[in-house]
Amino acid sequence: MDNQTRLEKLRHIMRKQNVDLIVIGPGAHMQYLLGFHPHADERPCLLLVTTAKETILMPSLNAQGSRTQTDISFCEWSDDEGPSAALQSALVSIEANNATSVVLDETMRADFALLLLHQLPNATHQFTFDTLGALRMRKDPDEFTVLKQNALLTDRAMQAGFAALKSGITEIVVYQIIKDHFSSEGASILFGIVGAGSNGAFPHHQTGDRVIQNGDAIVMDIGCTKNGYPSDITRMAIVGPAPDGYDEVHGIVEEAVGAAMEAARPGVRASEVDAAARNVITKAGYGEYFVHRTGHGMGIEGHEPPYITATSDTILEAGMVFSIEPGIYLPGRFGIRLEDIVILREDGPEVFSMLPRAVHMVES
Ligand code: ZN
Ligand code: ZN
Repeated sequence: MDNQTRLEKLRHIMRKQNVDLIVIGPGAHMQYLLGFHPHADERPCLLLVTTAKETILMPSLNAQGSRTQTDISFCEWSDDEGPSAALQSALVSIEANNATSVVLDETMRADFALLLLHQLPNATHQFTFDTLGALRMRKDPDEFTVLKQNALLTDRAMQAGFAALKSGITEIVVYQIIKDHFSSEGASILFGIVGAGSNGAFPHHQTGDRVIQNGDAIVMDIGCTKNGYPSDITRMAIVGPAPDGYDEVHGIVEEAVGAAMEAARPGVRASEVDAAARNVITKAGYGEYFVHRTGHGMGIEGHEPPYITATSDTILEAGMVFSIEPGIYLPGRFGIRLEDIVILREDGPEVFSMLPRAVHMVES
């Protein structure tokens, strides 16, 4: 979907919700709407959108570079003038100086937000969740294509990691091999958790110098970025014989993934998907060891709405992309997490990855 179409869709939502003005700082929201964002620093830079017009409050330092990216008008300000007067004329130029219902980018700097609200003393304000956030949650076909390509690329990186596993290799060397694989396909590693043995029981283990040994279960949670979008997947591997109790716990986590996949349908609350996964694990007696939410949305950002949590009232819709990643973490023994990114279709989730979730066994 091109940038003009996204702006039009946003305006449609603004009209329906009687929003006068949406104000966005440099970051993922601006990236989504404009296809770029100017350098983010302490200089106030804001995209201002009404139902009819838009302009950008632009530090003059970044104006020339940004002009190659967009045709939108700039209200420039220089370091010796400061941003206040330029912001005032920006608001006037789009007839938003009397705006009363304002939506703010929740990720913008607090000093930008206060600068703006100071000039709109009568405005009520909310964040983007119901407007731009709602739009971003439903991925368009172009976004699906990039996410799918990245997922398949990440499957290959996971297989490169699998191929390197053996007793005597360290976590960090496996990480490096995965990182190199991403580079070889023109992607950049975003994160790479390789958690062997008891390290796997830390959900966000810091990959390190631990030497992988026979009998280690290994959590591998990896992701990259390419073409402006991320990837994210977790699979399990074992070097040598499985540790005691592994198969039972893996089976429970797999069942939890399946239950969440079954529950995820358009019209269902995100909390119901979390509950479906959690009930399986709790009934099996491991509830206290499932220490995090079931999933998170993914798009321009690696973590974005919808969040699949016990408290989320977000109604799932077709086109939303999110992870399903229950886990059980047994301190001192091992951890098991299985994670797939899905896009929700009318008849349920479609998994991006083609890699089976079965544990990858490496002979010692
Ligand atoms: Zn994830
Ligand atoms: Zn992950």
